[in-house]
Amino acid sequence: MKNSLLILYIIIPCYNEEQVLPITAPQFHDKLSQMIQNNVISDESRIMFVNDGSKDSTWTIIKNLAESDSHYIGISQSRNRGHQNAVLAGLMEAKDHCDITISIDCDGQDDINAMDQMVEEYKKGYEVVYGVRSKRDTDTFFKRFTAESFYKLLNMMGVEVVYNHADYRLISTRVLQEFSEFHEVNLFLRGMVPLVGFPYSTVYYERHERLAGDSHYPLSKMLALAFDGITSLSIKPIRIITVFGFTVTIISFIGILWAIIGWIARTTVSGWASLICIVCFFGGSILLALGIIGEYVGKTYIETKARPRYIISERTYDVEK
Ligand code: UDP
Ligand code: MG
Repeated sequence: MKNSLLILYIIIPCYNEEQVLPITAPQFHDKLSQMIQNNVISDESRIMFVNDGSKDSTWTIIKNLAESDSHYIGISQSRNRGHQNAVLAGLMEAKDHCDITISIDCDGQDDINAMDQMVEEYKKGYEVVYGVRSKRDTDTFFKRFTAESFYKLLNMMGVEVVYNHADYRLISTRVLQEFSEFHEVNLFLRGMVPLVGFPYSTVYYERHERLAGDSHYPLSKMLALAFDGITSLSIKPIRIITVFGFTVTIISFIGILWAIIGWIARTTVSGWASLICIVCFFGGSILLALGIIGEYVGKTYIETKARPRYIISERTYDVEK
């Protein structure tokens, strides 16, 4: 068993969440207080909001919360950088102040009661604890289908992800220290954390509906995230192109032999339509292949620039603290 008075930082990314934050912030606070009272975590534990360049009053709400109670703290990004960067900013900010972090969305969808079990698992010796949705009853059929296909596709493409786990997880600072050595700019946290290694465990929880406001992840963004996840963590698509190209070359070679034999045997070669079809098919395939390769070249270009992944413009506390 590890030390019982752990310092926990709950990392909560917030983007335009003025509708939901006043409802969920007290819930997080209650949870933290309960854990402090039960001597599960230390009184130095904090709820850290990461304002991801919100355009509404989210940051003002966070500042007011921080003034009202010292358990609330907040950092603000200089502009909107997306969910993954916001979570990373919070984790990297927290890692020098605590023993464990739990990242969770601020919309009340993830069951906060799973946190007790996560901390328990950590005390058993697991450095990472993934929150996994036990069922998706509250999701529409379409959301469920697309989300499940998303995990299957990622695994097929060689990206190691925990099935039905989003970004609700406990990570120890020991893992975070190692994780800070991962300098990539294209972030896909749920695929990157398993790469760090260390013993991990999973905790099941029920996912509810959003308490207020709208999801920031419509289908288009989810597809973009899946595509980013695959191209950031795996080069399998390029391998598939290579295998496809190789197969087509062999078939073409056989085709050429067949045509030559046909020419020698003087059988008529007919079929203008089929020829056009084949030309179009390969024209399309080549463009698609170029597009996928281009995507990797683009990623490499962005990575070589190594721009900062987040810029913290404001904090509700002093840095020296
Ligand atoms: N979020 C963020 N930056 C963004 C988009 C979303 O920090 O650019 C936060 C958002 O405030 C929420 C979490 O990421 O806490 C998940 O977003 P959302 O609930 O919209 O996604 P869903 O749960 O529908 O997948
Ligand atoms: Mg949500």
